[in-house]
Amino acid sequence: MSKIKVIKGDITTTAADAIVNAANSSLLGGGGVDGAIHRTGGSAILDECRKIVARQGGCKPGEAVITTAGNLPAKFVIHTVGPVWNGGNRNEAGTLANCYVNSLSIAAENGCQKIAFPNISTGVYGYPKNEAAKVSVAAIRDFLRHDSTILEVIVVCFDDENFNAVQDELGITG
Ligand code: ADP
Repeated sequence: MSKIKVIKGDITTTAADAIVNAANSSLLGGGGVDGAIHRTGGSAILDECRKIVARQGGCKPGEAVITTAGNLPAKFVIHTVGPVWNGGNRNEAGTLANCYVNSLSIAAENGCQKIAFPNISTGVYGYPKNEAAKVSVAAIRDFLRHDSTILEVIVVCFDDENFNAVQDELGITG
């Protein structure tokens, strides 16, 4: 059985040890999945984000930080900043892969076994969904090859295009 699963749904209702947020560098909230996570999770998440900002001054593309999940049905939110799509020649793929690998690393360091990802960068940041699916599945597979803490990775897709693209990459026939 593959450790990687794909579902269509809302990540704020997904039960997992950690859910990943497609944040922006300020870590102070935004639209899309970021807005939904802060709205549903409550102010405890933003409080911890502010402390991280005071300590390290935000988060660079490809990096990840961890906070409480507040009122969400998860223990942690891992905030990672995806690349803004700029045509593909600015190492967007490398940065996007780093988001997945660094989020999985921080999840494993915190003893998480089940982690849920949204389709990072495929909203406002404009990353083509098919390309993002390739990068995300390859990065997750690579990480899982040399990790034994993470038992399940769920890719939570908000729309059919992402869902179909990730299914294709996983070799699942819909
Ligand atoms: P980015 O700035 O990284 O592109 P967005 O939040 O704009 O981040 O979009 C990332 C992906 O998350 C998009 O595919 C969007 O449709 C999806 N998304 C938005 N809300 C949710 C949600 N509640 N659960 C899961 N995915 C969501």
